[in-house]
Amino acid sequence: MKPLKELTRPNIWTLKPYSSARDEYNGAEASIFLDANENPYNTPNNRYPDPLQRELKRLIAPVKKVLPEQIFLGNGSDEAIDLLFRAFCRPGTDNVVAIDPTYGMYQVCAEVNDVEYRKVQLDEDFQFKSDKLLAASDDNTKLVFLCSPNNPTGNNLCQEEILALLQDFQGLVIIDEAYADFSDVPSYLNKLEDYPNLIVLQTFSKAWGCAAIRLGMAFASKEIIGIMNRIKYPYNVNLLTQQEAIRMMEKHYQVQEWVKSLLNERSRLVKEFRKLPCCEQVYPTDANFFLTRVTDAKRIYDYLVEKGIIVRNRTNVTLCHNCLRITVGTRPENDALLEALKGKKWEK
Ligand SMILES: *Cc1c(COP(=O)(O)O)cnc(C)c1O
Repeated sequence: MKPLKELTRPNIWTLKPYSSARDEYNGAEASIFLDANENPYNTPNNRYPDPLQRELKRLIAPVKKVLPEQIFLGNGSDEAIDLLFRAFCRPGTDNVVAIDPTYGMYQVCAEVNDVEYRKVQLDEDFQFKSDKLLAASDDNTKLVFLCSPNNPTGNNLCQEEILALLQDFQGLVIIDEAYADFSDVPSYLNKLEDYPNLIVLQTFSKAWGCAAIRLGMAFASKEIIGIMNRIKYPYNVNLLTQQEAIRMMEKHYQVQEWVKSLLNERSRLVKEFRKLPCCEQVYPTDANFFLTRVTDAKRIYDYLVEKGIIVRNRTNVTLCHNCLRITVGTRPENDALLEALKGKKWEK
């Protein structure tokens, strides 16, 4: 890995961050706060929240086996993705490399930040080769985006290739683990010590059942997290979100139960879906959704919408012609989907 100073945009490296009232005073003993122009009424929503979400990070750190200083919390993983572009990629000059197909936000953030986005197509099995990603990179490639289990394909990426990339790439490697809770493959969090260029993204939006509270996590070296914290909005995670996440951490056994039952439901749904006459293939999945090639994605999508069932039509995505991405729901929801498609073929 290149020195972090070389990877960071010079203006960000030298930035003096905005210092909020709650940054300058954060001792716990004081009881009279006349420093932040807050309203003394309407407790607790009158007070600015902790800009570094310390209580929440104290709860997350032991569960993830990292230090609180290795955690960034943001308004969804999407905030972390955007901050990585803003911290490391000089607009109009630097570029990033990503697998294709994958999660659409990486490209959107690249374009918003005027950063070239280089796609490297996956093979038939939706796997990549480290050498191909390296060949697409150059001296101005700051970030490589991987997503495992990948969206929309659902599969884990090959560990050997991921480790080869972490070893050989001189910039930062982001592994988006939004769906890792649904997979048996261990998280790459346990590789943070070995690879200083690794950034792992996770989220409260999927297995944790908290998409509405908007809370994403990035894990990396203290130095990388420090840079992200310097450029984030001071109060990027609001009080209600911090409180709800703390409540969720205290009942994380519940998440394990949800995951277990969704995985059972996934096996059943996939098995039944394969029998449908409109289904040509269900791809292997390690997530809470599956990708399926059907006889006619557009017509099946439209038909399901009419029945009040919404799936994701991915037919226009690389390698996904005539593919639908289907999220595993509750048993009755999945049954309604199967029932709607029973006996329907939509000949090509
Ligand atoms: C759903 C998803 C996320 C979650 O994003 P949030 O902003 O945290 O809701 C991140 N990455 C991938 C690949 C996803 O599919």
